[in-house]
Order: sequence, then structure tokens, then C-alpha cells
Amino acid sequence: MSKFWNEKINSITPYVAGEQPKPGQKVIKLNTNENPYAPSPKVKDAILSFDISTLRLYPDTNGTSIVEAIAKVEGVKPSQVFVGNGSDEVLALCFQTFFEKQNNTDLPVLTPEFSYSFYPVFEDFYDLRPKKIALRENFKIDPQDYANEPNCGIAIANPNAPTSVAMSLDEISVICKANPDSVVLIDEAYVEFEEDLQSAVKLLPEFPNLCVVRTCSKSYSLAGLRVGYAIASEELIDGLNRAKDSFNSYPTDRLAQAIAAAAILDEEYHKECCQKIIDTRKETTKALEEMGFDVPDSSANFIFAKPPKELTAEGLYQKLRSGGILVRYFKTSGINDRLRITIGTPEEMKEFIAAVKKEVEDAKNS
Ligand SMILES: *Cc1c(COP(=O)(O)O)cnc(C)c1O
Repeated sequence: MSKFWNEKINSITPYVAGEQPKPGQKVIKLNTNENPYAPSPKVKDAILSFDISTLRLYPDTNGTSIVEAIAKVEGVKPSQVFVGNGSDEVLALCFQTFFEKQNNTDLPVLTPEFSYSFYPVFEDFYDLRPKKIALRENFKIDPQDYANEPNCGIAIANPNAPTSVAMSLDEISVICKANPDSVVLIDEAYVEFEEDLQSAVKLLPEFPNLCVVRTCSKSYSLAGLRVGYAIASEELIDGLNRAKDSFNSYPTDRLAQAIAAAAILDEEYHKECCQKIIDTRKETTKALEEMGFDVPDSSANFIFAKPPKELTAEGLYQKLRSGGILVRYFKTSGINDRLRITIGTPEEMKEFIAAVKKEVEDAKNS
């Protein structure tokens, strides 16, 4: 509390990011859904050929090199792409532009009961009324639950986090169709980690109220670069640009623009990298299930696993942590019986499985 802060800053509960180990600390880091592989070799080329003298000049305000790379690989117009400083910033601008004080109504923003924990922070920050929609069996989202519920906007992560479970394009269509007067935000931070999962970008010709948000942080191995983007109708993208240009005209810098564009255009490397993670996820899931864990079908680069009855999630989290393996545990009631485990390299996951196996056996023998 401070008398110098405004009321909002005094009352808000900020988002808490997953723990980052100190430099030099040796841990297996499976707690913030980062990619275990290096970014594309094209990133190194982009850095080595970067003309340092250009840094004296302001960057392109719209990140045009990134916008054009995205437009090319996604098959959309550059005017349908908005780039920001990480997708967290893009999401915040979306909440502000599309939801805040929408038509002066008191209607709520709909989000799944368990979803990305930044959404409630944005709702609080922009004085929006939250309404959480319960998940169905096995963490499934039923689109009908969003069809007859008055709202000023909808935000859903697909695949959802921390549950890892995905909706199909048909299901997303149902939600967009039923809410023509609201923007439907589909946060696709993890959409590339499933062979059969299609991006909602495919639905854009049909729905001017759909806004797809993506990031370079997860599948492109660039969490440290801070580049995220939105793909939507020109009408929605225009709105985001107006918000951005009233706040920070240069959200991405020259180096980030060169690096992100190079990574996005290396589609072959991107695909290979995602496939390796999908394969490791399948192996890890199988090994955990053999030890009695419940693991819902994941479409992401993480799994949401419930330990067998001999172990509590919190106890296992602590044990792994003291052994140098970081996973994510949420104290939230309803999901506090599970751990969110990022998929690392096959070697990391082998060590993880061995550590878990030891804890399961110790628990059974005690
Ligand atoms: C990681 C994550 C993001 C944030 O990504 P940045 O681009 O690094 O800000 C957004 N949404 C979800 C659901 C995420 O898990």
C-alpha cells in the first residue's frame, strides 16, 4: 500500500510468473512451458548480419517485417496482423480495446473456470466483471455453455492452459456464431503442438468478431525475445493499432523484428521442433499413466497430471523441487490435485520420470 499509488494499483493482485532459477543454478526446468530446443539457426544468421548502426533509429512502428512474415505463413493480409511485446501485452490491449466499457454495459467477460491466470488480472485492471464458465468432464469446454450467456467479450485459451485440452474448429465456430456482438479471443499460445489441431485463423473469413492471439515464446523458442501477435479482421486490427499508438508506438525493437521474422519464416525447423515435443509428450504421458497418474489428452507442450493416491500433487512438487526439477503447482481449489509439467528434451523427461518413479515407490513402501 502506498498513498502515492492510485486506488487500482493499491487494490490489484498482479500476475505471478513461474519461478526462474538464478543464473548458474542447475535445474531441470519444466515449470513455465518454455521450449527446450534452441531457436531456428536462421535466428543466429539474423543476429550476425544485423546492422548495429541502425539502432540509432527508431524501429518500424508496426513491426512490418514480422507482420509480413506472419501474413505469408498464415495466408492472411498484412492488414490482418498486429504485433506486440509478447502476447501478454497483445492480450492486455485486446481486453482494453474490445471489452473495457463495451457499450457501457455491465455485462461480464466469459472465461473458462480454469484458464490462463492472466485473464482475471486484466479483468480486474480494466474494471471488467468476470464470469467463469465451468469446465465439463475431463476439462472439456462445451461451446453451448457460451452460446446463451450474455457477455461483453469472451477469452479462451485453445489448447487451454493449464489443462492442455483443446477445442475443435467446429466448437470455436459455435461460440463465434452465437456471439456476433462480442469479440471472441482465442489465445493460441500452444496451438502448434498438435498435428491435427487447426488454428482458428481458418475461421477468420467467416467471423469478423474473432481475434486469434499467438506468441513466438513457446513453439518458436523465443520466450526471451518478447514477440506476440494477433490475427483478426482488419476492423479489429485497426482497433488494436489505435490502442497501441495511444500507449507505446514501438512495442517491438529492431533486433526483435529481425529475429522474429527469421524464425517465423523457417517453417521447416518450426515444424520439426514441435514434432519432437509431441513425440516426447506421448512417451512421457505413457510412462506416467503406467505409474497410475491420470493425464488428460494434451494438445500442448505440457501435461496436466494427477498423481496416484499415494502422493499429493503439492508433496510431489516439493520433492521434485528439492531434487532440482521444477514443475508448476497451482494451489487453486479444483486443480490443486495436479501438476502442470512442461515437456522438455527426451533426456530431461527421462530424469523426470526416474525421479517420479522413486517418489511413487517410496510412497507405496511407507
Ligand atoms: C505463455 C502464455 C502466453 C504468454 O506468452 P508471451 O507471448 O510470452 O507473453 C499467453 N497465453 C497463454 C495461455 C500462455 O500460456
